[in-house]
Amino acid sequence: MVDLRSDTVTKPTPGMYEAMVQAEVGDDVYGEDPTVNALEAEVAALFGHEAALFTPTGTMANQIALQLLVPRGGELLADADAHVVTYEVGAAAALGGISTRTWPSSGGELDVDLVASYLRPDGFHAVATNAVAVENTHNRGGGTVLPLEALRELRRVTLEAGVALHCDGARIWHAHIADGVPLRAYGELFDTLAVCLSKGLGAPVGSLVVSSAERIAQARVIRKRLGGGMRQVGVLAAAGRYALTHHLERLADDHTRARRLADALAPYGLVDPARVRTNIVPLDFTKASLDALSFARAAAEQGVRVSVLGPRIGRLVTHLDVNDADIDRAIEVFTRILAR
Ligand SMILES: *Cc1c(COP(=O)(O)O)cnc(C)c1O
Repeated sequence: MVDLRSDTVTKPTPGMYEAMVQAEVGDDVYGEDPTVNALEAEVAALFGHEAALFTPTGTMANQIALQLLVPRGGELLADADAHVVTYEVGAAAALGGISTRTWPSSGGELDVDLVASYLRPDGFHAVATNAVAVENTHNRGGGTVLPLEALRELRRVTLEAGVALHCDGARIWHAHIADGVPLRAYGELFDTLAVCLSKGLGAPVGSLVVSSAERIAQARVIRKRLGGGMRQVGVLAAAGRYALTHHLERLADDHTRARRLADALAPYGLVDPARVRTNIVPLDFTKASLDALSFARAAAEQGVRVSVLGPRIGRLVTHLDVNDADIDRAIEVFTRILAR
């Protein structure tokens, strides 16, 4: 099987398993797991922040960050396709008492003037905007990389308005590799970031919230409240540390492979190759002779798995467990189906 559904389907490599076996551990609720502490320090330093907190999932990392920035009854502003809005099963409202307002998404692009027009100041009736969240790379946007200049402009605008800025950076690694922007340059623009080790980097579990020491101390309390206080979790932190050391630079290969898929499918009108910058290839079946589900079924019968996100929307994602030969094979299967 060539599994192109998601970059979450990767399995630990032998080297990663070895790192997990060798990990020094302790009770992390007591702050005594040396491997977790090392991972948290390492990731905080990568982004130029004071501290970081290891969480079981990216959703928990995002939700902790949102609770740090937005009080109960306060407002989060995000784009309509954001993961924090679309894929976190209403957690901001259900767990944080956070009211969410959205600006219309345009394929993961960031229009700072548009966002600025949505910022709402303190008022007698209105819910004041406490935080803005952006996603880099943008998942539903198709792995879009937000330009550093636009992010800087957004930072200026939100600072002026006294509004906090959060980055859902589940795939910030991909943005860093695609644009060559140092992680620190991203880090300095945000009050909080959530970053994921279990997507492109290939760790089995784990994300982190990155922020100031003061906020991370509060984050520790929120994590415990959410049931995310873990014990000898250094076995997982070791996988994350291994992933950061060995699997960051190789994301460029995933990007090249996604580009090959995009170029191969472009003649069939399924992909706009200019939009594919990282490891996600969005498929648009509006002009195709078959729908997304029929395509996915036919591909699965021939050993290639793809995601169906809507009747006419599909998605391919490259990752650690897909090599060049797998891409050859997938292209062969796709072109055979589309040529019918
Ligand atoms: C996957 C993902 C997350 C976190 O997802 P979990 O499955 O909870 O780890 C957050 N944001 C984006 C953009 C993602 O793609």
